[in-house]
Amino acid sequence: CQRCLSLIKKTKFLNAYITVSEEVALKQAEEAEKRYKKGHSLGDLDGIPIAVKDNFSTSGIETTCASNMLKGYVPPYNATVVQKLLDQGALLMGKTNLDEFAMGSGSTDGIFGPVKNPWSYSKQYREKRKQNSHSENEDSNWLITGGSSGGSAAAVSAFTCFAALGSDTGGSTRNPAAHCGVVGLKPSYGLVSRHGLIPLVNSMDVPGILTRCVDDAATVLGILAGHDSKDSTTIQDPVRPFTLPSLTDVSKLCIGIPKEYLTPELSSEVHSLWSKAANLFESEGAKVIEVSLPHTSYSIVCYHVLCTSEVASNMARFDGLEYGHRCDSNVSTEAMYAATRREGFNDVVRGRILSGNFFLLKENYENYFVKAQKVRRLIANDFVNVFNSGVDVLLTPTTLSEAVPYTEFIKEDNRTRSAQDDIFTQAVNMAGLPAVSVPMALSTQGLPIGLQFIGRAFCDQQLLTVAKWFE
Ligand code: GLN
Repeated sequence: CQRCLSLIKKTKFLNAYITVSEEVALKQAEEAEKRYKKGHSLGDLDGIPIAVKDNFSTSGIETTCASNMLKGYVPPYNATVVQKLLDQGALLMGKTNLDEFAMGSGSTDGIFGPVKNPWSYSKQYREKRKQNSHSENEDSNWLITGGSSGGSAAAVSAFTCFAALGSDTGGSTRNPAAHCGVVGLKPSYGLVSRHGLIPLVNSMDVPGILTRCVDDAATVLGILAGHDSKDSTTIQDPVRPFTLPSLTDVSKLCIGIPKEYLTPELSSEVHSLWSKAANLFESEGAKVIEVSLPHTSYSIVCYHVLCTSEVASNMARFDGLEYGHRCDSNVSTEAMYAATRREGFNDVVRGRILSGNFFLLKENYENYFVKAQKVRRLIANDFVNVFNSGVDVLLTPTTLSEAVPYTEFIKEDNRTRSAQDDIFTQAVNMAGLPAVSVPMALSTQGLPIGLQFIGRAFCDQQLLTVAKWFE
């Protein structure tokens, strides 16, 4: 615990944490030590430092969603997933940074400023840049972490904790995992409770898990999975711990390679690692086949209609009355709502509320919202068809390229770029499937590149088994 706390201090410049709960962690560590000395039965995470994205409610600890709207908000309860971790003896090191309300793919858009990717400071990357005659001082040109769970990914990657919770609505756990060289798991929708996760898109949100290896992700998933009476979308079936075999025979597996994922924007380096991974499976006897997910090209637009529509409805709760920020204006109730929301939300959030309300207007509802729901079903059915044809898991890139420098990321229209970055991850959320990003190799620049495995709904155990073999 103390080592992690001192690393948190040393890496403060990464901006991975919004709140460091030092006192809480030290007290929990002390209690864990007492349990150990008394020979009491140990929880699976007894004494293990973990971090939690700042969009999960934590009892008595500020929960901001990196937004002015919730600055100073201290929830009276723990999210179910947080409580489950604490029940197993985990130590809560702090709350991690994100894009405001988890809207973004860079971890650049929160009120506490952007998160810096720990790999920006690796010796190999620095040397490569020097060789390519980039003259610069040490701190310029640092890389983004990806997002929106960039704080959690950076926290795990910088060894400040062993596991971190993220959230994944369209890729927010897998994208930063790929950019920061860690494992990022998005469980099946309904396997893990969303109670206490401040919603972005209720029909797609899933708590995500970031760890340094697949086995750790499986351990944490085993603790988190299962029915919660406070989240009616969680499955009723009892869940067993996710224990992965140490030896796996992949020769009976059928791996699908979706041809639509070979997009023109895919960097040549990611492309060649993707092929290399497919060859690896083939050389071990697995059947590797090209498959088609024909509705892939509609997924970004479809996601945005559905996402903004749910956002418009979700964000209505932030009215200045119940929680968080309230403006000073007391002219009228309506004026108070408007000023509170203007002061509380950033442009991205306001933009999504406006778009969502447009799609939900009586005259647009059928044409946009209902149509997008139908397209969502087609996208989900693409996966069902592929899995019904005998494919066990899909192998795809996680991101288009390695992490880019912050200065580059903010150059073009940030939101357009963010949207493109999610091309390989968003459809999975619309279909509710489990998916995991696993670090594959370092690029010629010395930066991590991750690949994604997508599994059948509720076959998270099989997915992780394949991922473990691969890592
Ligand atoms: N980048 C996507 C968005 O901004 C996904 C975010 C997420 O998964 N939380 O909506």
